[in-house]
Amino acid sequence: MSELFVRTLREDPADAELPSHRWLVRAGYIRRAAPGIYTWLPLGLRVLRNVERIVREEMEAIGAQEVSFPALLPREPYETTGRWTEYGDALFRVKDRKGGDYLLGPTHEELFTLLVKDLYGSYKDLPLALYQIQNKYRDEARPRAGLLRGREFVMKDSYSFDIDDAGLQKSYDAHRDAYIKIFTRLGLEYVIVQATSGAMGGSASEEFLAVAENGEDTYVRSPGGYTANVEAVVRPPATEQPYDDVPPAHVEDTPDSATIETLVAQANELQPRQDRPWQASDTLKNVLFMISHPDGRREALAIGLPGDREVDLKRLEAQVGESADIVPFSDDDFAAHPKLVKGYVGPQVLGSGELGPDESPAPGSIRYLVDPEVVTGTRWVTGANEPGKHVFDLVCGRDFTPDGTIDVAEIRAGDPAPDGSGPLELARGMEMGHIFQLGRKYAEALGLKVLDENGKLVTVTMGSYGVGVSRAVAAVAETTCDDKGLVWPRELAPFAVQVVATGKSEEVAAKAAEIAEALSVTGLEVLLDDRKASPGVKFADAEILGMPTIVVVGKGLADGVVEVRDRASGDREDIPVTDVVDRLLTLLGG
Ligand code: ATP
Ligand code: MG
Repeated sequence: MSELFVRTLREDPADAELPSHRWLVRAGYIRRAAPGIYTWLPLGLRVLRNVERIVREEMEAIGAQEVSFPALLPREPYETTGRWTEYGDALFRVKDRKGGDYLLGPTHEELFTLLVKDLYGSYKDLPLALYQIQNKYRDEARPRAGLLRGREFVMKDSYSFDIDDAGLQKSYDAHRDAYIKIFTRLGLEYVIVQATSGAMGGSASEEFLAVAENGEDTYVRSPGGYTANVEAVVRPPATEQPYDDVPPAHVEDTPDSATIETLVAQANELQPRQDRPWQASDTLKNVLFMISHPDGRREALAIGLPGDREVDLKRLEAQVGESADIVPFSDDDFAAHPKLVKGYVGPQVLGSGELGPDESPAPGSIRYLVDPEVVTGTRWVTGANEPGKHVFDLVCGRDFTPDGTIDVAEIRAGDPAPDGSGPLELARGMEMGHIFQLGRKYAEALGLKVLDENGKLVTVTMGSYGVGVSRAVAAVAETTCDDKGLVWPRELAPFAVQVVATGKSEEVAAKAAEIAEALSVTGLEVLLDDRKASPGVKFADAEILGMPTIVVVGKGLADGVVEVRDRASGDREDIPVTDVVDRLLTLLGG
């Protein structure tokens, strides 16, 4: 400790929102270099290397081979697949001195595809799995919580190459098993959930989420075992209804009813129903968004959904594309569309049409998508496109025809699981890994073909698999730390044991050094606190730093004992000095 490059801090860093961020900075594991960009100090780097080691071992175990690509990449392959544009503002684009376009790799599908195309040409070369552990760059809109969402971060990304779908399924399953081993070894409590594939394209995909209250992802699970990221929940459409008996739509006065709550109250007062009171779910709410796509297109979108539900912006982003900028209609947008009366918008003025880059949408040409609950024959109370007026008995399929369906309503606890496996429960998690069956999208775009057994050229099918390596450091810290500091599981700890010498006596210092030396020759990683600091300072630091086992050499020596503390449980035990090395070896499996 007297030589280690570390300074523990007594104060929380001002920008730290989460415990993991706070403790990793305070314990001297990382330092911020710029927003979302961090420097690894010796202790942090040791943890990072431990995560990498676990990931490497499990990748090698399924036969994946390590390569290392540059992070600075040429534009062309990303142009070919469309991602140069599609990635939007999240892509770090750079120019060289000749004006050539480059990017800092956010993920490397293109490069891996081209590399394999470069060198391989036959079905005999497949299957193949390649991986790298490397810095990735994404100009995240909201860098957050230190390592959890960085703009430079470490990812393990791997890619599988197969001749057919059965091969891809096998490669995917092998990765899935490897991920189960990785996240189990990292000591994370995790769930595997169905996912959407985002900017990556492709079909089958699952995420590994660390269960954590502070996680940014919301997932659902049912008693029958359905699990999915809320972004990926697909609600089945409601059943179509006969509507022969429904009276014609009629417009009614509902003064001051621009919100669903006031509308329901007005409807019950002025247009009471015979069978039961009106409720929010009888109303059709039409929500307007302005969407700016990464290629410059702007598009107005109206979403119709039952009035008791909100649009979940993350679910909407997942549907529209994460790089699109989606904002609710502004007052200016409303002003530009005089037919749309804020608070009283009805489907009659909505429907069809996209826009050019600079045009604002012409009234009546707004794309109108509805919730899966809004099907033919369902009848609604909704805006009449006049202030203070609503229309009743407006029937979908009779009085209005949406342009399509969009499933972006918030998912609520108790909603039925789409597969019929019971009511959903909601919880939060952090995305630690993501596995995709990419299929032929990239191979097609970049021309990766091989000769099959019959000498025919076939397009290779691919999988892509990511682990957030630096995020894992933070996620483990987040889920294990306590109010005194970090608490590392053994496999990740920078050192297995911290030996703390307390008091000023030469004898204590010598004994502590001797124990540290004896432990270290057995192969254990040992950190010796040999500083001339008070016992209080040393204990506090040992708690902040979070090594799993702490050996206190001090007063007890007079009675021939040292104290062994378990950082996680706080348990303390006096052990005879003569036994301490053997005891720790048994304890730590050395
Ligand atoms: P997120 O939804 O959290 O933005 P993503 O779906 O964009 O992540 P992928 O492209 O699937 O991420 O990347 C693979 C893995 O890399 C993720 O599962 C996550 O663990 C990690 N990762 C992604 N973005 C970041 C980031 N900004 N900082 C740290 N780790 C990240
Ligand atoms: Mg992902």
